[in-house]
Amino acid sequence: MKYTVAVRELTEFTAKQGDLDLRFTPSPSAQEGIAGHAVVTARRAAGYQTEVSLSGDYRHLTVRGRADGYDPTRNRLEEIKTFRGDLERMPANHRHLHWAQVKMYGWLMCDKLGLEEMRLALVYFDIASQKETVIEETHSATALKQYFEEQCGRFLAWAEQELAHRNASNQALTALRFPHASFRPGQRQLAEAVYRATATGCCLMAEAPTGIGKTIGTLFPLLKACPGQELDKVFYLAAKTSGRGLALDALSLIRKSEPALPLRVLELIARDKACEYPDKACHGESCPLAKGFYDRLPQARSAALVHGAMGKEALRTVALEHQVCPYYLSQELARWSDVVVGDYNYYFDTSAMLYGLTTANQWRVGVLVDEAHNLIDRSRKMYTAELDQTEIHFLRQSAPAALKKSLDRLNRAWNALHRDQEEAYRVYPEIPLKFTTAMQQVIADITDFMAENPTHVDSKLQRFYFDALQFSRLAETFDMHSLFDITLKADSRRADSMLCIRNIIPAPFLGPRFEAARSVTLFSATLSPWHFYCDTLGLPENTVCVDVESPFRAEQLSVRVIGKVSTRYQHREESLSPIADLMARQYEAKPGNYLAFFSSFDYLQKVLELFKVRYPQITAWEQSRRMEETEREQFLARFTPVSQGIGFAVLGGPFAEGIDLPGERLVGAFIATLGLPQLNPVNEQIKERMGAAFGAGYDYTYLFPGIQKVVQAAGRVIRTQQDRGVVYLIDDRFGRPNVRRLLPAWWKVES
Ligand code: SF4
Repeated sequence: MKYTVAVRELTEFTAKQGDLDLRFTPSPSAQEGIAGHAVVTARRAAGYQTEVSLSGDYRHLTVRGRADGYDPTRNRLEEIKTFRGDLERMPANHRHLHWAQVKMYGWLMCDKLGLEEMRLALVYFDIASQKETVIEETHSATALKQYFEEQCGRFLAWAEQELAHRNASNQALTALRFPHASFRPGQRQLAEAVYRATATGCCLMAEAPTGIGKTIGTLFPLLKACPGQELDKVFYLAAKTSGRGLALDALSLIRKSEPALPLRVLELIARDKACEYPDKACHGESCPLAKGFYDRLPQARSAALVHGAMGKEALRTVALEHQVCPYYLSQELARWSDVVVGDYNYYFDTSAMLYGLTTANQWRVGVLVDEAHNLIDRSRKMYTAELDQTEIHFLRQSAPAALKKSLDRLNRAWNALHRDQEEAYRVYPEIPLKFTTAMQQVIADITDFMAENPTHVDSKLQRFYFDALQFSRLAETFDMHSLFDITLKADSRRADSMLCIRNIIPAPFLGPRFEAARSVTLFSATLSPWHFYCDTLGLPENTVCVDVESPFRAEQLSVRVIGKVSTRYQHREESLSPIADLMARQYEAKPGNYLAFFSSFDYLQKVLELFKVRYPQITAWEQSRRMEETEREQFLARFTPVSQGIGFAVLGGPFAEGIDLPGERLVGAFIATLGLPQLNPVNEQIKERMGAAFGAGYDYTYLFPGIQKVVQAAGRVIRTQQDRGVVYLIDDRFGRPNVRRLLPAWWKVES
């Protein structure tokens, strides 16, 4: 069996040495890199060949790649690298790596054309000045062959180990049995759907109720499908840390099966959570874990892979044992792991690492998206950029002289944007070119400044820089999927404004990410209606939707609609008394633990105040604004099998989904809201855009997201097949057929 590796991947493995050094940044963006390559190759004479595909074998290794350019008249092979700033500052290990790449291509080219020798050139193209610096060397074919074989030889032992690992894990996966004695009701249906979707190479949306074991019910079939579908990796993506924890637990159970499964599992942690020296910068002169990082990486990598299960703590231990940065070690291990567990952003964000590696290495991947109802909101945030004009004023005061001119120009262009705006909020059909040009100039100037002054640390400048980059990137792809809006700042003396490129429909951004995977499974207890999620997220046409049968029986949950009450804003005052009385009646009839959900803290407060006055004998707990994690834990800890009381909470908040209070820990919920997003100018614009795109503005903006939250909150009550409980849906609109249709089929709703 052959092991195929790209030149880039191989050289990064064998020729990277020295310190981790992120100072020679900011590097050019991908678009700037592509444009820079195009400029260089356009300058070359006729007959110049670009993107030359090359491939060669060494024992059972196949090495392939594309050389940037070859000039046959000069017999010169070129590797083009775009950069910013002072080339002299480029760390030696970067240059070393570039030579390694071009020498590898050099031999493959000599071999292809039967040449005796070849000129090799590193062409450094300065994005700012558009000037080229060429460093050239001539090598004999014999020397290049020797270099090629040396590098391959160093990689071969690793490749052999990788092949052996793949064979062993494939064998173990083929023999793998479900880790529990039997499937729970609904779990087999879910598992079969995941397996089939992977086998046929399509995406799957699975609405599956809580309690059927979705984590193992999706991971197990996808792993079983790996050998047959020749999947390279499985990505398990979660919206929250708790979701990652459940996946790691399930994988730990699966790894323990008989015979033991040699599966490499990696948890990806955000940089700020993994960093050991938050007060230092990521280069060898500042951080001890960056110094000599690449020299110690091979041992750390091998130790981690022997360990197999790389959760946060295990990763930290291995990293510190080998004195390398845990965060950057985890980035490296993503290449060699079988299952990677991480946040959504690692695959769906603008510069998502897992998506980037998948396309660069042409991996076949299976992706699982846990609690996928969160993906719309999370993706919107990923593709939204906001800028505050007040930041510019701060920067102008403290910025180095080199930046003042372009910041002033940007500020003038900014003022021109909202000069005629009288209303507080307005949406504009386009982002004026004059503004984006001024923005790009600021970015270019800051980039050059940072490249030339790598030790100058100004966190405000850096933050603005990254915000501006994101804004500028999104401005390039601005279209009907997003709004460009300006909000005048009421509190500003200077009539400043906030600019926002606000993503509404993430589909165009996510579509390529779904396409890049063999299969993506989105699962959640609330994914209805399908078309809302498929349209907004951009799932492929052939996506399969499965409604997994609920293991719960209608008699477990009494769902009662209180149609005499309206929770609309204008009826709030009249609703307080009936809601408080209803809660007390239910509590007196069946004392126990309840949660009551409201649309806002304001509403919550009003009902709570009245409730405490009228029913002081009933214990009431209250969710407060901006609760810290420990406070949230304390709130939930009050719900014990023997406690009794009512927790007042806000719908859409941390207690309305993702919490597990089985049995007597929660026997009922009162939901005094339809969950509709607030009526405001932004949401009205979203409605308009959704209406234009899908012909259902109100439903896509208000109704579907609202009811999804209601069903999530109600889902806290029944967690197991033994649970019994009651849910009150308090609002006359819960009686409407278009709302009823969105409630789970297994509920028996009484009016
Ligand atoms: S430990 Fe922190 S400062 Fe050091 S390299 Fe890692 S992320 Fe950077």
